[in-house]
Amino acid sequence: MKPKAQDEYVQIDDGPWAPFEGFATGGIKWRLLHVSPEMGSWTAIFDCPAGSSFATHIHTGPGEYFLYKGKMDIRGGEAAGGETARAPGYGFEASDVRHDRTNFPVDSAFYMTFLGPLAFLNEEDGSIIANVGWAEAQQVWDAFLQEQKSAAA
Ligand code: ZN
Repeated sequence: MKPKAQDEYVQIDDGPWAPFEGFATGGIKWRLLHVSPEMGSWTAIFDCPAGSSFATHIHTGPGEYFLYKGKMDIRGGEAAGGETARAPGYGFEASDVRHDRTNFPVDSAFYMTFLGPLAFLNEEDGSIIANVGWAEAQQVWDAFLQEQKSAAA
């Protein structure tokens, strides 16, 4: 038998934000809030300055988000036939959906739970550059915290 899962709590404004490097432009920062290995899920918040964007990706599994600040243009936004989320806004992303540039025209922030990894794509040929799931997210986040600790020591 397995032990019951433990409660967890994160005070969102009490710690550092990590730069979300490699798969975004414009200074997006993030904080990992929770991972659930057996669910294959991970939950994070993202702080996205005006003009920032995420690189092209596929949601391998479904996800749910809450945009609590600003505006998010998905698949080019309404003007290009996509979706524009405005805070306070909730969205469900279906499994296997592909998102070319996700843009933030104004300072924005959102909370999201992902089931399964995000597959970031090479825009030239559509091949997968990296899968970012709970394990990769946790590894990067832990390395960031470790770095913070060493810098402070
Ligand atoms: Zn997406």
